[in-house]
Amino acid sequence: MDAPEEPTPWYRYWATDAEPDPEPDALFHVKHDDAEAAELAPVPEATVPPVVEATIAPVTEAAVVDEAPLEIALDDPADDAPPPTHFARGRVVTIANQKGGVGKTTTAVSLSAALAQFGARVLLVDFDPQGNASSGLGLRVQQGQPTIYHVLVGDVDIVDAIEPTSVRNLFVVPANGDLAGAEIELVSAFSREQRLRKALESVRGEFDVILVDCPPTLGLLTVNALTAGDGVIVPIQCEYYALEGLGALQRNADLIREQLNPELEVVGYLLTMLDARTRLSQQVVDEVEAHFGEQVFKTRIPRSVRLAEAPGFGQPITIFDPGSRAALAYTRLAREVLERLAASVAAEGAAT
Ligand code: ATP
Ligand code: MG
Repeated sequence: MDAPEEPTPWYRYWATDAEPDPEPDALFHVKHDDAEAAELAPVPEATVPPVVEATIAPVTEAAVVDEAPLEIALDDPADDAPPPTHFARGRVVTIANQKGGVGKTTTAVSLSAALAQFGARVLLVDFDPQGNASSGLGLRVQQGQPTIYHVLVGDVDIVDAIEPTSVRNLFVVPANGDLAGAEIELVSAFSREQRLRKALESVRGEFDVILVDCPPTLGLLTVNALTAGDGVIVPIQCEYYALEGLGALQRNADLIREQLNPELEVVGYLLTMLDARTRLSQQVVDEVEAHFGEQVFKTRIPRSVRLAEAPGFGQPITIFDPGSRAALAYTRLAREVLERLAASVAAEGAAT
């Protein structure tokens, strides 16, 4: 019997930001001229900063508001509610945004620890050749140690690549630079987009939540991660051009839904590195919420030096500085994620 014909590797055409955008995208409106911005932008024109100023303006004193309406409340009665006990067994959640440095890995590490501290059994798959999620959890990949690369190319079973971490209930499949090779090695491999999904099949039942930390690209690794996911979390950094590139990510997700994984849902858009004192953050929050509405997590992650320091100690923020606002924010996010996953599991149950 002939092998089934392989689909065109379409992601190659979508994979780079260098590709000219075939049609103007509403999400890019901050980059359009003023007239277009007024037409496309859901926020009043006055709040959309002119592009020239946007690219050069540092945060000035004038941009710092007296009150801080975005400041995370330290005493929220919801925090005292008993921790969630019904976990969404075997849910795979991919953390993706091809933009670099928006907080994907910080979110993957902090959220996975917060989920584990609620009692969920969590597996974090480091799916980035930079290996930041592994090192952020204090893991140094040893020579010859199985990593996600070996799993993807079929050399080892994923079970043999899973490592415990210093956080109870939290496990990790580490990555290192070898993973960059997988992108090339798998180009001609059969069902190359489904490698991670298939690899996770055997361990899904062992975990409540499996988080996948993506690299900052839309290449084969991210395609694998989105194909494996039941859901995706998209961190968005609170800065100018926050929404840039999200059109391409959405188109990729749509194609993956059509061709590879109809189940893929958006778990939520997450605002990260929010500076409560700046008008800029307020503008980004307004803009992202105008675009994505209820899909934006209520929990926003504040900018926090402690979060930037934690990876240097190989600890998630909830262990490194449990009393910090950042730890509190990620703990609240964990609660929100569990609620959303439970709701989507319930909706699936009702539909079948
Ligand atoms: P990449 O695309 O390279 O994988 P990323 O999206 O995973 O990046 P991170 O590595 O999580 O982004 O974050 C980028 C940098 O910003 C890191 O130095 C991290 O410590 C820092 N950072 C992330 N979140 C915050 C925050 N809320 N406050 C302050 N610093 C942060
Ligand atoms: Mg990262």
